[in-house]
Amino acid sequence: MPTPLDPRKKPTSIKIHISSGAGVDIIWADGHASHYDFAYLREECPCATCNDAREKKASLGASAPALLSSPALPMFKPKPRAQSATQIGSYAIQLNFSDGHSTGIYSYDYFRIICPCADCAKAFRTVAAG
Ligand SMILES: [Zn+2]
Ligand SMILES: [Zn+2]
Repeated sequence: MPTPLDPRKKPTSIKIHISSGAGVDIIWADGHASHYDFAYLREECPCATCNDAREKKASLGASAPALLSSPALPMFKPKPRAQSATQIGSYAIQLNFSDGHSTGIYSYDYFRIICPCADCAKAFRTVAAG
């Protein structure tokens, strides 16, 4: 039985700019265009490991984010970028990042939810203000 697709979560065009490192561009069936940096996608990686890490970070509290990073200035770390991308069925893309991480499978659904623009933040990521 086909799942009725929310046009907001149905891509009509997906461009993954691996060689230029420019990120991912998606145009959605509702006409919305999203752009994602690979570094952003790496941060928002949906795999269990990264989910855990994010939750831990969140539970430590947003009040002291500076304490989360090492007090000593870390050595310059190149921004992660994607080395390759694999289409998973007709619903997701798996990204292999330059830091060796490749367990993240980004469903189109998820892509739309993490669209970095303000409109999508409002539409998909509204959290109780606290
Ligand atoms: Zn991950
Ligand atoms: Zn958006």
